Amino acid sequence: MPNGPLLLEIALPVPLPRTFSYRFVPAEDQDPAAAPVVGDLVRVPFGRRRGVIGLVTRAQALPPGVATVDGAVLRDVQEVLGPEYRLDPGRLELARWMAGYYALPLGEVVPLFHPPAPGTRARKSRKPAPEAYPELDPRAITLTADQEGPVRRAGEMLREGVFGAILLHGVTGSGKTEVFLTVIAEALALGRGAIYLLPEISLTPQTLARIRSRFGDTVAAIHSGLSAGERCRVHEGAARGEIRVVVGPRSALFAPVRDLGAIIVDEEHDSSYKQDEKPRYHARHVALVRGRQAGAVVMLGSATPDIESVARAREGRFEMFDLPRRQGVALPEVRIVDMRGTGVREGFTDDLLEAMGRELDARRQVLLFYNRRGFARVMQCADCGDAVVCPNCDIGMTLHLRPRRLLCHYCGHAEPVSGACPSCGSTAFLPAGGGTEKVELNLQAHFPEARVMRLDHDTTRRRGSYHRILSAFARHEADILVGTQMVAKGHHFPQVGLVGVLAADDGLAMPDFRAAERTFQVLTQVAGRAGRTRPGTVIFQTWRPEDPVILAAADHDFGRFLEEELPVRRSLGYPPFRRLARIGLLGRRLGVTREAAAALADALRGELEGRRRTVLGPAPGVFERLQDRYRFQVLIKGDMTKKQKHWVAQCLRDLKVAYRGVEGFIDIDPMAVF
Ligand SMILES: [Zn+2]
Ligand SMILES: [Zn+2]
Repeated sequence: MPNGPLLLEIALPVPLPRTFSYRFVPAEDQDPAAAPVVGDLVRVPFGRRRGVIGLVTRAQALPPGVATVDGAVLRDVQEVLGPEYRLDPGRLELARWMAGYYALPLGEVVPLFHPPAPGTRARKSRKPAPEAYPELDPRAITLTADQEGPVRRAGEMLREGVFGAILLHGVTGSGKTEVFLTVIAEALALGRGAIYLLPEISLTPQTLARIRSRFGDTVAAIHSGLSAGERCRVHEGAARGEIRVVVGPRSALFAPVRDLGAIIVDEEHDSSYKQDEKPRYHARHVALVRGRQAGAVVMLGSATPDIESVARAREGRFEMFDLPRRQGVALPEVRIVDMRGTGVREGFTDDLLEAMGRELDARRQVLLFYNRRGFARVMQCADCGDAVVCPNCDIGMTLHLRPRRLLCHYCGHAEPVSGACPSCGSTAFLPAGGGTEKVELNLQAHFPEARVMRLDHDTTRRRGSYHRILSAFARHEADILVGTQMVAKGHHFPQVGLVGVLAADDGLAMPDFRAAERTFQVLTQVAGRAGRTRPGTVIFQTWRPEDPVILAAADHDFGRFLEEELPVRRSLGYPPFRRLARIGLLGRRLGVTREAAAALADALRGELEGRRRTVLGPAPGVFERLQDRYRFQVLIKGDMTKKQKHWVAQCLRDLKVAYRGVEGFIDIDPMAVF
């Protein structure tokens, strides 16, 4: 490239599927090699803003005298960011793939690929990260025969330098982390780097400590808890090849690790891998794409793999390995306790209270899990445990008050509230509300002597409180810990002898086709907290003791759960058999938002509906109104081409013009309810 002015095409983070033209004028003394190239990040003025970061998608010599493009005066690039921030060809291709697959403008994907304030200097004094647990003792590692299989296969892939995906299904405590660390060590030995993804890094300090103690200074964690300067230091260190292993939540996937050899997706079923705000993407899916581009091994691991991952393995696209045995202590025995007609006292059966009393007398700890959250408006019978389910979609219907009716929020099907259970005729429905706070209060009544701690959204708002509670409980400063699914994550509490689940069926009636899968996952994970060092007990209290999901979770039988669940998914056309896309609409005014949703659904039906695709809705969101916005959604069941997705995205931009104040988004492969 000659050392003259350049005409650059730049993708900017704005909701328009186009690039913008800018001029780059080199400084008098500039090295021609420093001229911007495709993949570079630049700062440019945009409208009245300055310093907007964009991606160079095209660079060409600007003929002398040209100062306008299409009648618009070219503005000058303010700054070209250093080569540490350049998107190398692999990551550039990944960004383009994401823009195509998720129907996003390229410029809206680019912020994932750099820290929020690139170029910020880190302050010198770096406080060591707080570790909630003592250092793990270094020990000689001998892999079990189960662990050796996936390690050997990953090693073959690494040495061949080809992409491969491995799904590691290992029961809780079976030594998955050791497999991951050994594979990373092999990648490093071959001169390649690695990325280790964890669902939420603040929830997994032990894993992070283990990775650190194994690989030392070549490892860095990247997450939102770091200062801008620290994030830049990690990013630049990775780009220069000084940092070889980057650990973090989904955002770590985009780090510029050089010669990437392995990507680990730990707890691959975890829903936090899905980003539910713009740009919407699923890190597990994107990890596979990055791995393919880099010729890397991608290892997904979980005690309860996502059904979609299992389906890919059955299709032969992933290789699957099992770690069916726990190391040391056997899996805990799970007892199912029927809550129907037993005189449950403030949420506790006599069986659970007795078991708790025994543990506390023996000076052991108790972990209680209660996950009742915002879905109390699901109608669930207190006598037979059945929920009112949509006849079209097989998901729980939600109670809406104005007008009073039951509604399926997938397809919009409505039914009157009859007041009687359609299965058994009972008029008793499960009480709404409650929550962990009430459980904590009731516990004091049952066990006035016991020291109780609570772990949920409310008690962990303050920075660091999560660690404080967990480490205090690990030090046995409390006898009982009661909490939401936060307690189900991979913690290790050696003193816990009993895990109690207060309502094991709680999630089953959620208005989501993944309700059964989510319930199975959380029950399995929470049961895995018991008896890590000595045989432990788990009690599932439930209104639905015959439910196959609960029975399979109690038996730690993932295979049986799959055989129950897969036929349901197949017959209703849900993933993994057909893809889903969700279109969400939000507006301040109910009338116009509803009208826009109806018009959109009509347009989508006209264009997309066919033998292999169905358009459902519009239906109101589960929360019809949230943050002063009315919410509607339309679901598209079935595969769409890239062209069709972008056509939908264009429909949404047109809709915004036609219906003032209505905003829409497209969510490819949605994971959560709206
Ligand atoms: Zn009933
Ligand atoms: Zn429905």
